[in-house]
Amino acid sequence: MKAGFFHFIPFMTFNSLNLTDPILRSLKEEGYTEPTPIQSQAIPIALKGTDLLGCAQTGTGKTAAFAIPILEILSKNKSTDRNRKIRSLIVTPTRELAIQIDESFQNYGRYTGLNTTVIFGGVNQKSQVKKLKQGVDILTATPGRLLDLMNQGFISISDVEIFVLDEADRMLDMGFIHDVKKLLAALPRKKQTLFFSATMPPEIVKLSKSILHNPQKVEVTPESSTVDAIQQGLYFVDKGNKKNLLIDVLQDSEIKSALVFTRTKHGANKVVKLLNGSNIQAEAIHGNKSQAARQKALGNFKDQRTRVLVATDIAARGIDVDELQYVINYEIPNIPETYVHRIGRTGRAGSDGTALSFCDAQEKAYLRDIEKLIGKKIPVVDEHDFPLVDHNPPEPEKQQQRKSNKSRKNGHAKNQGKRNSRPKAGSSNNKRARR
Ligand code: AMP
Repeated sequence: MKAGFFHFIPFMTFNSLNLTDPILRSLKEEGYTEPTPIQSQAIPIALKGTDLLGCAQTGTGKTAAFAIPILEILSKNKSTDRNRKIRSLIVTPTRELAIQIDESFQNYGRYTGLNTTVIFGGVNQKSQVKKLKQGVDILTATPGRLLDLMNQGFISISDVEIFVLDEADRMLDMGFIHDVKKLLAALPRKKQTLFFSATMPPEIVKLSKSILHNPQKVEVTPESSTVDAIQQGLYFVDKGNKKNLLIDVLQDSEIKSALVFTRTKHGANKVVKLLNGSNIQAEAIHGNKSQAARQKALGNFKDQRTRVLVATDIAARGIDVDELQYVINYEIPNIPETYVHRIGRTGRAGSDGTALSFCDAQEKAYLRDIEKLIGKKIPVVDEHDFPLVDHNPPEPEKQQQRKSNKSRKNGHAKNQGKRNSRPKAGSSNNKRARR
């Protein structure tokens, strides 16, 4: 075992945040061992009843940063009748986020006895109304459907004690500002407000000032530069071929240790199964695994019994790997700072490292954001057996793609014609990869 190869960076624990047993128990069951930075900063503030301005993106653990204190506060004096009032309202711009937030409340609040539900547009309102009639303490909603059901008399938000405005910048981008203003007018004046936004352009600052009273600000600072010691390589590949490409890349016995990132826990499990099926030792670490299982997987990786560790972003947080050779982004992260964070796992303490990213047609918009953040094009590796064939991403990404046409033309497309091979860890003059 090499000393210092691998260790945990100490973090605050959930116990030190003064949470009650029902919440601590569910967090333990979720496999959360320590709060993320946004959680350790925001939870104590929110528990005091103070307004909060949180500058953080999805992926940082921000849902739990507001859900945990809300559950704590509301569970202190619970109502049990069917006519319970909505005491906390979370407004978020998209249906997907709304569903995820409600799931988080259900998970963290499973021992609190509080009722939660979610409403969003695009589906029949019947089952949502039925749920509302059963009595709800915590409602997560998208703005349009919320106003619609309020207008029909199915929802009153006049008793809300804690209001959360989630992804405020995206809400504005999506044209929800008027809806938000209507909601604010229907909310009681005396309430606690938790306001979250990934970015703070002037309109958001203005909006936050008009909503919040003496707020405390918490911010998770994004990282924006990539370490020079890290060789970067980009593979354009069809989604369905990523598995073949991964196996192909890992056939190289020079790769002694690789940390592979996936976006979801399910994705991590799938990759592990795939690699094990091809005789490549791999293990996964993610939130669904017990602390003991995670420690064991990390230990195996550290001792080089496992060549490949497959991780989700949050699970990999707090792990410091001094001599990690390769980071592989099996999926391109949708938050550009996450890319910087992921690849920063290699190339530490003066050693060289390589970061490879697999990008399918749908992920090109994410790639564009990453290249904008790091201020350079990632060198493209096109000497591989699975080049991208399907260049037409499905609908939602297409619009973003159109916007990015210009940067694509100036970037990768211009470089077509030469064949470049994979950059190797340790070769600081990466001759064949394009710049
Ligand atoms: P969010 O930024 O709220 O979308 O959270 C991103 C992911 O992190 C979700 O899958 C959460 O389940 C997970 N997560 C949140 N807090 C923690 C924590 N303290 N430890 C481990 N995973 C977490």
